[in-house]
Amino acid sequence: MTEFVTRFAPSPTGRLHKGHAFSALTAWQAARDAGGRFLLRIEDTDFTRCRPAFEAAVLEDLAWLGLDWETPVRRQSDHRADYDAALERLRAMGVLYRCFRTHKERLALAGVAPHADDPADARAFNGGLHAPGDEAERLEAGQAFAWRLSLDRARDQLGGFDQLHWCEETADPGLHTARPEQLGDMVMGRKDIGAGYVIATVIDDAAQRMTHVIRGEDLIAVTSTQRVLQALLDLPTPVYRHHPLLLGPDGKRFAKRDRAVTLAEIRAAGVSPAALRAELGF
Ligand code: GLU
Repeated sequence: MTEFVTRFAPSPTGRLHKGHAFSALTAWQAARDAGGRFLLRIEDTDFTRCRPAFEAAVLEDLAWLGLDWETPVRRQSDHRADYDAALERLRAMGVLYRCFRTHKERLALAGVAPHADDPADARAFNGGLHAPGDEAERLEAGQAFAWRLSLDRARDQLGGFDQLHWCEETADPGLHTARPEQLGDMVMGRKDIGAGYVIATVIDDAAQRMTHVIRGEDLIAVTSTQRVLQALLDLPTPVYRHHPLLLGPDGKRFAKRDRAVTLAEIRAAGVSPAALRAELGF
């Protein structure tokens, strides 16, 4: 049997909730079923939002849930130099540009009302280039900026995106073609934190020889951009399984920002891990 390697890759920006438990169990179970390996990866490139206490809590919550994983656990903050080197490689290739605009400014430039419901309109906006003089002035003034991937330049570099495919096994199974336009010129790094999670995830999935990326379907769109990065950085493309998101009683997805009930709270309420696993279908 060919090797099967998958992972759960949370960002320690808060406590895990039921949606995370479902995602972690989906990946862990898939590895078991395939007689494969399950890895845990801490995606903490954004040190302005991640906290060591949350990382410890992630491990505690997943162990309580009954999961086991290989050690050592890869922590992205230990590999910053690798991600920054990739960012530099992209920059040298000419496919990145510095963007000093705020989200609000990009919305305005895209002609989208600031409270438009669909933020994708603004994200898909690509005309972010600054006049050279303007850029020099802003740099001089020490203004914050993001490194964005220019899809126009990436398209030129790769000779188009239509030849970039990935195999999806869960959501809309089949061969997908990269459509990075959905998310536009995405942020690849920031002045303050260096390379960000979109690059780090792609580098790590290659470094850890992931055969299957199993994650929520909210990450389908970014897969196109990550496929473009794989092509630009000569990295392999794993198989993807994007599972449906677990919905709360109100029919909305669980999210940290909505203060979804955390695994810690569920545990404190006396629910057993077996009962929670059963509720989630495992
Ligand atoms: N770190 C990402 C998150 O917390 C997941 C990235 C991935 O699974 O590829 O949403």
